[in-house]
Amino acid sequence: MMSIDGKVALITGASSGIGAATALKLAAAGVKVTIAARRADRLEALKTEIVEKGGEALALEMDVTDMASVEHGVKRLIETYGSIDILFNNAGIMPVSEIDQFKTGEWNAMVDINIKGVLNTTAAVLPQMIEQHSGHVFNTSSIAGRKVFGPGFAVYSATKFAVTAFSEGLRMEVGRKHNIRVTCIQPGGVTTELPEQTTDPDKRRQLDAYRSQVRFLDSSDIADAVVFAAQAPAHVNVAELFILPIEQA
Ligand code: NDP
Repeated sequence: MMSIDGKVALITGASSGIGAATALKLAAAGVKVTIAARRADRLEALKTEIVEKGGEALALEMDVTDMASVEHGVKRLIETYGSIDILFNNAGIMPVSEIDQFKTGEWNAMVDINIKGVLNTTAAVLPQMIEQHSGHVFNTSSIAGRKVFGPGFAVYSATKFAVTAFSEGLRMEVGRKHNIRVTCIQPGGVTTELPEQTTDPDKRRQLDAYRSQVRFLDSSDIADAVVFAAQAPAHVNVAELFILPIEQA
């Protein structure tokens, strides 16, 4: 395995769930982690925890839908650490509802955060990685980026299929040419705050019921997989990580 001690990472959606857990695991492996999200108070608490455990962290209030905010954050990161080795495009939301409810505001928010957020952050970070001729981009798709679960998941799944497709295309373009690895992560159910954005009471009940039937993954299970792929030898690209609870079909 390759040491990642001293590497620099940017993690979007680091204020909770998978992003926060991955920041902790990467920092424990010696990575300087830039933790980005909108909730500054949560980021400060996480930064304190990382530093108390002997790690290094930079907290950045960033909205991935706002290109100026993303560019400002990446500029601060480069000024602080001088390089960027790992980008974890993890920010995402999942307000599920059926199409005939026409919750178009929620559809647009998912497109803006789950798809355009990935594109914005990639566009801001990639020039630095190309200049370095090295880097590793992780994109969080989902099992929902491989199949549509059923009613309510059409738009969320569409955004995650987009992330899967973008990851594959990006990998083809930047691997050989720029020595940049691309890993598409496709988790099944993970216990996080993700279901809380669902405003439809029936769908929310369904999500909660499913979570009570299946022993979900912990965020740290995904974080372990990210660390594994990041530590793979330089010539190895772990292109996909499809990680499910053992009970999930
Ligand atoms: P959380 O809700 O805990 O985390 C989502 C993160 O995204 C938060 O840190 C949130 O921070 C951030 N975020 C949301 N909008 C923005 C924005 N506009 N700009 C910057 N950050 C934003 O859920 P998870 O940890 O579960 O989600 C992480 C990723 O994993 C998502 O992409 C999700 O789709 C994916 N996923 C999750 C699964 C699960 O079962 N939990 C399964 C498969 C995939 P803030 O609100 O502070 O900005």
